[in-house]
Amino acid sequence: MGKYYQPEIECASAEELRKIQSEKLVKQVKRVYENVAYYRRLMEEKGVRPEDIRSVEDLHKLPFLTKADLRDAYPYGLLGTDLKNCVRIQSTSGTTGRRVVAFYTQADVELWEDCCARAIMAAGGTQEDVCQVAYGYGLFTGGPGLNGGSHKVGCLTLPMSSGNTERQIQFIQDLQATILCCTPSYAAYIGETMNEMGIGPGENTLKAGIFGAEPWTEEMRRNIEASLGIKAYDIYGLTETTGPGVAFECQEQTGMHINEDHFLPEIIDPETGEALPEGSKGELVFTNLDKEGFPLIRYRTRDICILSRKQCSCGRTLIKMSKPMGRSDDMMIIRGVNVFPSQIETVLIREGYSVNYLIEVDRKNNVDTLDVSVELTPDQFTDTVKELTEKEKALANAMKTMLGINPRVHLVAPKSIARSEGKAVRVIDKRKLHD
Ligand code: ADP
Ligand code: ZN
Repeated sequence: MGKYYQPEIECASAEELRKIQSEKLVKQVKRVYENVAYYRRLMEEKGVRPEDIRSVEDLHKLPFLTKADLRDAYPYGLLGTDLKNCVRIQSTSGTTGRRVVAFYTQADVELWEDCCARAIMAAGGTQEDVCQVAYGYGLFTGGPGLNGGSHKVGCLTLPMSSGNTERQIQFIQDLQATILCCTPSYAAYIGETMNEMGIGPGENTLKAGIFGAEPWTEEMRRNIEASLGIKAYDIYGLTETTGPGVAFECQEQTGMHINEDHFLPEIIDPETGEALPEGSKGELVFTNLDKEGFPLIRYRTRDICILSRKQCSCGRTLIKMSKPMGRSDDMMIIRGVNVFPSQIETVLIREGYSVNYLIEVDRKNNVDTLDVSVELTPDQFTDTVKELTEKEKALANAMKTMLGINPRVHLVAPKSIARSEGKAVRVIDKRKLHD
């Protein structure tokens, strides 16, 4: 096996790709129009008929789908085929409080697993590898997706699921795992625990990690790479469109190649809905070109990023997306200022702190408050109140420079902030409780 899973697609010319996309789009729109009453109504409201869609150039004529549509249509309203043709459901982790149930036919499962196989091979995976999947299994798409991809590549697959960190480490060591798949926050925790157990970065067999399902910064990448002694690859996906493997990183580590033969991407202005030219920052929108069970057309992800077709040294021609710069619904508005958790994380790592932190937002006497608790490492821990206060002040100042508003910083004892085995919960917005 070469270094690509499906080179005929991954390295296809721009014209070939466009042709594949256009052919699939025409068919998909027709099928959805015929099978999905909910979307047919949206098309009728917009005055667009399947015949109006002749190529990807016509994509902008179609109506959007949003998370609110998915909620309205729950559970069966967006099914693209008879339920009897479906073999699986998966569901979102509900980070933003609203569950989505997605349906898969066998063909959908296959294409999803192919996408994950592309990601594993891009991280250097072959059938010689031992791939430890420490994403959650079950309704969450992380475990099942990478599990299927790992089988397709022919890796020896360790279906660990998340949690039981000591056992994870024992399996890494005893079964000589070479690829670790989990959320970046769990990878950081596994790395921290291994180091504490006296297992240094060079003392395990791991060579690569495939980490995603939540936002993480470049600084966090470097920390994980250092603690585990690996190269850390990003992977992106969402349950609505399939799961992980919508986009994946290659050795260049400068953004993720989108599997655009299955997921047709667009960037739009989140305010006006207008499609933006390549290179613009905006909301990522996906059209499922060939999914049967849950075929979403122009689904608004709320993830903000930039697309680029700049040539990549890995030889893949698939368009790349930047790391999502936070979801539009991750963004907090605090005293009128837009604040993303990733900005706070960037400051923490830059100032030499751990990524174990908790952001609490509240409103007191009509004024928003922002409190950031940050865990000290055992080395940083001190009993001197003066020293602590000075450190808190310095960190608060660094954050003010980044955010434009003043937070209250609390440095807390090592191990006092709960670790995450799946997607980390970093923000508690208490204002929502009062509203
Ligand atoms: P939920 O909306 O409940 O979190 P999912 O588990 O399907 O549902 O999560 C999908 C979302 O997770 C994406 O829309 C995106 O915001 C985030 N995400 C997934 N992968 C990444 C990644 N590599 N980097 C940043 N964010 C990611
Ligand atoms: Zn590449």
